[in-house]
Amino acid sequence: MGLVSAIADALSSEEGRGNVVRYECRDCGTAFDRAANHMMRVRCPDCGSANLRATDGE
Ligand SMILES: [Zn+2]
Repeated sequence: MGLVSAIADALSSEEGRGNVVRYECRDCGTAFDRAANHMMRVRCPDCGSANLRATDGE
């Protein structure tokens, strides 16, 4: 039981890291990651532009 739940925890934390969205700034080309739950107000960390493209792991 302990081993199985340890594996399940490892798998779910692996999933948790998948909740990051990769964005690319259309203005300056900077690529950066943001947690998916912050996606409503994402700005480029470099130039502050909101003109972003979600590249989603590509
Ligand atoms: Zn930018």
